[in-house]
Amino acid sequence: MDQYWVIGNPIAHSKSPLIHRLFAEQTQESLNYAPLLGEEGRFAQQVQEALQGSGKGMNVTLPFKEQAWALAEVRSQAAQAAGAVNTLWRDEQGRLCGDNTDGCGLVTDLIKNHHVMLSGQRVLLLGAGGAARGVVLPLLQAGVAELVIANRTLSKAETLVNDLAPFALNAARLHACAFSDLGEAPFDLIINATSASLQGALPAISTKLVSTHTLCYDMMYAAEPTAFCLWAQAQGGRALDGLGMLIEQAAEAFYIWRGVRPQTASVMQALRQAL
Ligand code: NDP
Repeated sequence: MDQYWVIGNPIAHSKSPLIHRLFAEQTQESLNYAPLLGEEGRFAQQVQEALQGSGKGMNVTLPFKEQAWALAEVRSQAAQAAGAVNTLWRDEQGRLCGDNTDGCGLVTDLIKNHHVMLSGQRVLLLGAGGAARGVVLPLLQAGVAELVIANRTLSKAETLVNDLAPFALNAARLHACAFSDLGEAPFDLIINATSASLQGALPAISTKLVSTHTLCYDMMYAAEPTAFCLWAQAQGGRALDGLGMLIEQAAEAFYIWRGVRPQTASVMQALRQAL
């Protein structure tokens, strides 16, 4: 039977095996998908050992996405721009291919599941780590009018903008900014790609950036609303968490590997109940 993995460290908490099992049942694809504990210093060897014979594909999570990028012989434009790979497989010539489906997952969740119009929107992206890096190009490709990237450490936001500018359709729409220089005009969409919610903390931004028409999206998800979602709602904004992004990035990986696109609504319900 075809074998797939998600590799990371830690990995026991990963929801990917459950998501892909539900996709496989729904599409009647015959495959097995298991977690693999990545070992620092042995990552490349683990990938090469896994992706042979019945080993057909691998998802990559923290802290190996950059190493997966370096290992891939062929990279999608999304992976190239992100500098990180979360999906690996071999093509017909046996070359190791890498894609980054995180940004596609976010954009699909917003547009398809939540009917958000991205085209022409003024968007604030909080954070400049791996997750932020992966979503910049797909947001620009979705036609946002302006994308401001703000980070606690401003230099990292500036580096991100410089790195992504060559991929941007119109680099003028992409700016780096410190939290304290964001001004007071509300955004249409604010995406929290910081890990602050993991500690129940909030990025230090003004409440004035949220109005009643602002959608706030926290990439983190949990059984209870995250600190950022609660903060957004307290300002009168609408709030969503990142469970949909997780499931949609998995659906894109499944499609890359199997050529079959799973329906995500029922999987979303099952995962929400399992949180
Ligand atoms: P990184 O460690 O690469 O980056 C962390 C970012 O958070 C940095 O920009 C850092 O700023 C910022 N940060 C951390 N603490 C604070 C704080 N207290 N206040 C303000 N900024 C802070 O993490 P990732 O980019 O990989 O992940 C970020 C989040 O996205 C995580 O919560 C992760 O779970 C989530 N995620 C969700 C996915 C999904 O599918 N739903 C997919 C991938 C990630 P600085 O540079 O100043 O340190």
